[in-house]
Parts: sequence; C-alpha cells; structure tokens
Amino acid sequence: MKVSILNLKRLHESIKPDIDKAIADVFNMQNFILGSQVSELETKVADYIGTKHAVGVASGTDALVIALKAAAYKMYGRESYNEGDEIITTPFTFVATGDSILLAGAKPVFVGIDPGTCNINTEEVKKYISESGSRVVGILPVHIYGQSCDMHEIMEIAKENNLCVIEDVAQAFGGEWEDKKLGSIGGAGCMSFFPSKNLGCFGDGGMVVTNDDVIAGTAGMLRKHGGKDKYNVDLLGHNSRLDTLQASILLAKIKYIDLWNNGRRNVAAVYNKELSGIDGLVIPADGLISTHRNLHVYHQYTCRTDRRDALQAFLKERGVVSMVYYPVSLHKQKLFMDKSVIAGDLQTSEQAVKQVLSLPIDPLQNEEETMYVVEQIKEFFAK
Ligand SMILES: *Cc1c(COP(=O)(O)O)cnc(C)c1O
Repeated sequence: MKVSILNLKRLHESIKPDIDKAIADVFNMQNFILGSQVSELETKVADYIGTKHAVGVASGTDALVIALKAAAYKMYGRESYNEGDEIITTPFTFVATGDSILLAGAKPVFVGIDPGTCNINTEEVKKYISESGSRVVGILPVHIYGQSCDMHEIMEIAKENNLCVIEDVAQAFGGEWEDKKLGSIGGAGCMSFFPSKNLGCFGDGGMVVTNDDVIAGTAGMLRKHGGKDKYNVDLLGHNSRLDTLQASILLAKIKYIDLWNNGRRNVAAVYNKELSGIDGLVIPADGLISTHRNLHVYHQYTCRTDRRDALQAFLKERGVVSMVYYPVSLHKQKLFMDKSVIAGDLQTSEQAVKQVLSLPIDPLQNEEETMYVVEQIKEFFAK
C-alpha cells in the first residue's frame, strides 16, 4: 500500500465538473484581471471568516507583505516602517513569515515556541517587550499546522502596548479561536491559496481579511501599484492581484471547505486514538489552549519523536510519505542572521526542528489508509 502526504488528484477528481465549469466561465469571459469572480470570492471569504473586508492578492506571501505595509500606513500615514521597527514572530514557520517582515521594511524578532502546539510562546513575547521592546510595533502570530495561537494573550499584549497584530492564517483557513474564525481577530489576517493549503487554488493566490477600513483600502491600493486608479498613484505598491481564474476555481472549492476540514479532523481523530500512549511518540495537542476552545483544522498532523529520521525512513520503506515541517528554524537561516533579533536561546524551536514529523492527512483519506500508517508506526515503536 502507498499513502501520500496529500492526495490532490483524488480531491480534484471529486469535484472535477465544478472546476471545469469554473475555468470555462473565465475562458469565455476573458476577464482575467480583477474580474467579477475576484470580488465574488472576496465577499464569500469575508462572510465566511466574519470580517468586513477581504482583498485578493497574488500569494500568501504578498498578503503578509501588503497587510504589514497597510498596517504601517495606518500607524504612520505612509506604507513604510521606521528603521529599526520590530515585529515579533515565531522562528518555527515557513520562510515567508519572516521574509515578508523584511520585505515590508521592518525587523523580525524571533521568540521561542510552545512545545505542545509549536505556536509562538506568548510568555516570551511579553518578556521581550518588557525587557527591550520599545521598538516593537507589531506581532505576527502564525497558526502553525492549522491550530490557533493563544489569541487571547496576544490581543491583550497588543492592546496594552498599542501594537498591530497580523495573523498568518496560511495553514489555518477555517480554523477557530473560541467562536471566531482565525484571521478575524487581529488587525488583519493573511490567507494563502497555495495548492497544498486547506483551501488551495491551481497556482499561487492569497487574501488579506480585515475589519479595518484603512487597512482594507490601503491593501486594495497596494495590490495594484498603490493607486486609487491607474493614473492617480499615491503609494509605492505592487502588481499583486489574485487572478480571476484562481478566484473562479476557489469559488468552486470554498463550498467544500467545512466538509474537507472535517475530513481532516476525522483522520486526526483516528491518529489521536491509535497513536496516543506510544512510548517515544508525542501526538499534537488539540482542542483547548489555556481553557480557551480552539478548532484545529489539521493542515498538518505533526508528531514529535527523538527517533524522527529513523521513523521517516521506516515509513518510506513501507510506502508512507511523511514530511519534516520545518527542518531549519528561521533564525538559523543565513537570510535572517544579521537582519533579525534573536530573543532568548530559541531552544524550543531548535528542538522542534529535530523532532517533528508530519503524517499523511487529506480530506478524503480513508480509514484503511490511516490505519495502514498507524500500523507501520506501531510496528516501528515496538522494535
Ligand atoms: C504557505 C505559507 C505562507 C506563504 O504562502 P504562499 O501562498 O506560498 O506565498 C506563509 N506562511 C505560512 C505559515 C505558510 O505555510
């Protein structure tokens, strides 16, 4: 038996007629740039997430850069940061989280993570701000693997210190904190529609969601060169629009997002039941973070073990694909070495990169496949 980490072909087959029609519509309309499907999707996503606005952009990375620049505009009345302005984030994430801060002209501050969820440790955020945080202007929490950060703490810290919060929701479309969808809690939320994300398109795509009129208006300008229209340009912007073709595909897919996230949660429930109590294996925390309810949407199902590399090799031999997200902490990458602040020793992140292993999970993964993965893991740890 072979089990891939994510079976995109099967997912596509399951809704192929919807997708074919969506694509044909755009080809017939020839409305490739900011066509009606883009605003239709923006309305759908804003309604779904529970924000007043949504702005489609070319990628999740651009969503972060543009949201950060829009937050600067809200603070300073210009789309740039002051030299030395700092944004606190996690080093345990995809590179885009950190490079978007640099691209927006601010400086990333990396703090440690919570070993249970691999999300940013809010105690360390507080500690950095109280010890040396006068230059901190914002926090960029990443809902890693599809699970919420402690948004209660983060919003409290932000309120006390007058900071902007930009949520990186790239892995957590549909995830919740208490009764709110992720992306609707901070000043803005950034979605990625990269093909392998929980809601993915057929190329690159992203979106900024926000309740803030200034951030939404600025993001809407920044995605098309910084102008209210083509020939009245006020800001230094980007060419970063969500393609109509991608929006049309996403409109066909968004109908299924709850069903698909539930499918992922069902797979996770089997893993949770079958893999708990195995000596040497730590399964992900799910459900409650410091008594606050959260809905984990399992972009990844990520275990931890000291025998990670051996387990991955064993699974590969048995036809099971697993992945290491992430093998290198951002503060150890050359790009960030002289351009970031390392707050504390970051051992929590350095330990995680050695131990994490993400198992196959996808919305349509059947019990037989999941149990096959479980059996191989049990066999490995029995040795
Ligand atoms: C995928 C991802 C991004 C970037 O999204 P793109 O659409 O690939 O630009 C940013 N942050 C995190 C945590 C991601 O997983």
